[in-house]
Amino acid sequence: MDIVFYNTLTRSKEKFEPLAPGQAKMYACGPTVYRHVHIGNLRTWLLSDLVRRVLEYNDYRVTEVMNITDMGHMAEDDSLTVAPGEDKVLAAAAAEQKTPKEIADYYTADFFDALTAMNIRPAHHYPKATDHIPQMLALIETLESKGLAYEKSGAVFFDVSKFPGYGKLSGHALGDLKAGIHRVEIDETKDDPNDFLLWRTAHEHRLVKWDSKWGPGFPGWHIECSAMSMHYLGPQLDLHIGGEDLVFPHHEGEIAQSEGATGQPFARYWMHGAHLLAEGRKMSRSVGNVIRLTHLQERGIEPLAFRLHCLGLYYRGHMNITWDALKAAQASLERLRRYLAEWNADQVTVEMPNRHLLDYRARFHQLINDDLSFPQVIPMIWEMAKNDLPPAAKALLLLEWDSVLGLRLAEAAAAPAPELTPEQRSLLDRRAAARAAKDWAESDRLRDDLAALGIIVQDGREKQEWTKTK
Ligand code: AMP
Ligand code: ZN
Repeated sequence: MDIVFYNTLTRSKEKFEPLAPGQAKMYACGPTVYRHVHIGNLRTWLLSDLVRRVLEYNDYRVTEVMNITDMGHMAEDDSLTVAPGEDKVLAAAAAEQKTPKEIADYYTADFFDALTAMNIRPAHHYPKATDHIPQMLALIETLESKGLAYEKSGAVFFDVSKFPGYGKLSGHALGDLKAGIHRVEIDETKDDPNDFLLWRTAHEHRLVKWDSKWGPGFPGWHIECSAMSMHYLGPQLDLHIGGEDLVFPHHEGEIAQSEGATGQPFARYWMHGAHLLAEGRKMSRSVGNVIRLTHLQERGIEPLAFRLHCLGLYYRGHMNITWDALKAAQASLERLRRYLAEWNADQVTVEMPNRHLLDYRARFHQLINDDLSFPQVIPMIWEMAKNDLPPAAKALLLLEWDSVLGLRLAEAAAAPAPELTPEQRSLLDRRAAARAAKDWAESDRLRDDLAALGIIVQDGREKQEWTKTK
């Protein structure tokens, strides 16, 4: 069955045709490790996980690379603590009185914890920028030798006027770019404000710098992704993925650098996830509307419920997060687990071929292959639950689909009932008593206390049910 993805480069849905049959090489832009990841970042990384799982469901052999930016990402206006033009990791190190490596290691671990909690499959490679300076320097030298880069006042810049395809991803004509240019890119020393930094020589006191033919210095941000993606995947990739804010200038810069250096098309399919918004604005530190997974958990919402919530919305549409929607996702996740436990208890073996089962399987496959139409999969699951298909067939389908949905339903269904501490048990008993006495204020208060201890309470028809999250 064909797979169709929306390609930002061509602004249309296109049939996925890989460079090599049966294989897919994908690169996703990873974190800048100077602060905790928020659920907006996770929405974008979930996109690459879903693309990968869909490809694997279609029997592709996928190689996925995600970079760790531990140096070279200069602030635009996106942080409260980092001044424009400053390196984000170095600025965080100064603010927290740590070494840059301590900062990077701490926030890299935080990033991996969040991926695990969201059941995002690990990429095959997580290259760090600081481990790939030689590859970046080699690429910059190639660009210089081809006349696409120039040195000026202690910096090396990419000369966009020499790369005719500049603007093809973001759709800006060169003349228009000035208006949309990022603040950090405005630099008096450049020939043209559209040119972007490849390398800058460091001042004497800079903590981290590397030798180069232009003197000790450090790389720009865009060059890191060109150098590392091509180092691990070769000059041509099948898919390149990131959040919509990366289209310009980051991905536009990557195309110019990679294609400028190799003379070959770089990535064939560019996929971008729309932002997650809170109170109508992009979630980010500068706006101050950041929500992390721990904040969700404090309110009784599991990371996997957030995953399910993301599946319910098209990745190309903005997601305006609300607590009510998150709570509904938590309830849906628990409902899925309950269904699976019920259906699994059924001992009947399914006679194959069962027409309904085959129909549902085909519908699921069609939907996920159509540019990740997960929002239509979720209602299909509720519909299936009501169908007169044998419970064992429903369990079979749901578990099969969960290899793509990634909700860890099999683990939840198979897990023995978790132990409760005496404190948790007593709170649960008190809450049951409060409910019986219709003392809703007390029962809500106890629900919050339980949530703080990692117990999520859900009111069933007859009794309260609970799930343990930590
Ligand atoms: P950063 O660590 O800031 O470089 O961002 C990591 C990834 O998260 C990038 O792919 C960004 O596009 C993405 N991202 C940042 N903010 C949001 C947001 N509010 N919603 C969705 N994705 C985001
Ligand atoms: Zn990148």
